[in-house]
Amino acid sequence: MPDTFDALVLNKIDDTVTSSVETLGLVDLPEGDVVITVEYSTLNYKDGLILKGLGGLVRNYPHVPGVDCSGVVASSENPDFKLGDRVVLNGWRFGESCWGGYAQKARVKSSQLIKLPNNISTRHAMAIGTAGYTAMLAIMALEDQGLTPDANGEVLITGAAGGVGSISIAILAQLGYQVVALTGRSGSSNYLKALGASNVINRKELEQPVKGPLTAERWVAAIDNVGGIILANLLASMRYHSSVASVGLAASAKLETTVIPFIIRGVNLLGIDSVMCPNERRVIAWDRLSSDLPQEKLEETITVVNLAEISKYADEILAGKIQGRIVVDVNA
Ligand code: NDP
Repeated sequence: MPDTFDALVLNKIDDTVTSSVETLGLVDLPEGDVVITVEYSTLNYKDGLILKGLGGLVRNYPHVPGVDCSGVVASSENPDFKLGDRVVLNGWRFGESCWGGYAQKARVKSSQLIKLPNNISTRHAMAIGTAGYTAMLAIMALEDQGLTPDANGEVLITGAAGGVGSISIAILAQLGYQVVALTGRSGSSNYLKALGASNVINRKELEQPVKGPLTAERWVAAIDNVGGIILANLLASMRYHSSVASVGLAASAKLETTVIPFIIRGVNLLGIDSVMCPNERRVIAWDRLSSDLPQEKLEETITVVNLAEISKYADEILAGKIQGRIVVDVNA
């Protein structure tokens, strides 16, 4: 195995974070019992924050970012992971509290690794990435509350053209749900319908303050990626005993609501945490992704960039301007 490799390295000088592609050695990598030859990583909302030095997510510099990666095992001290095994890693503060996936090599803890199902390539693993795996966790949480495809009604996905939104739509449509996409992007209707949305509605519909704590019952379930007034209005329009999976806060972390949707309509608000999710549930999520997500739809969602290009997309993802998924080919 060559002992040098390329990585995107962040440095912080006087509160300003800079990035450059540098050549590092295996000796520079953090401790761990498995070395991965990384093939792909992705750009997530959290990566945008890290690349810009926002949110206090990274404390130590120099730092190699990238909150997820896929690749093959290059060396292993754990007999469960053999040379050449195809693996995926995300969460566990990878790319935050330790060096991450924007590098051609990563040394990691095998307890955090998942072996990829046979029919998911390393490229598609990162087209899915943290966003897609979180979408699956959200769907599993809704199913735990009794949601099934024969639910007679529509499932709403907010922040629909983003990473979590896009893949949620593709999975739910494949499973036979009637999916409605909420988006602020005027030109994304064809994209969202190609993924499987039966209807696309404008974000503005849910951005207006509503009179009173409840409105007409509409959604049988929802996955919310944006928070703020959209989540508050969504709670007011859920059907009796339905659930909202709360994933993200792309619009706002604030939630001004009342207890009425919970008391009068028995609405459940389910928090989705992909970072510390136990491995047993991750394995189930990846198995479900291999069976329930049409792999060919992934190609429609991805833009592929290299290590040197990734930083220029940080502002765009933070401004909600990225459609689908940005996949980083670390060898390009
Ligand atoms: P993306 O940036 O890809 O998508 C977010 C989408 O939200 C945008 O595409 C846009 O959708 C919408 N949006 C952005 N800004 C606003 C705004 N001001 N008001 C209303 N809508 C807005 O992010 P991801 O899909 O990767 O992640 C979505 C959220 O989930 C993020 O907050 C992320 O941090 C969080 N997340 C949480 C995880 C967890 O474990 N709980 C794991 C992964 C992500 P559109 O253009 O269609 O309107």
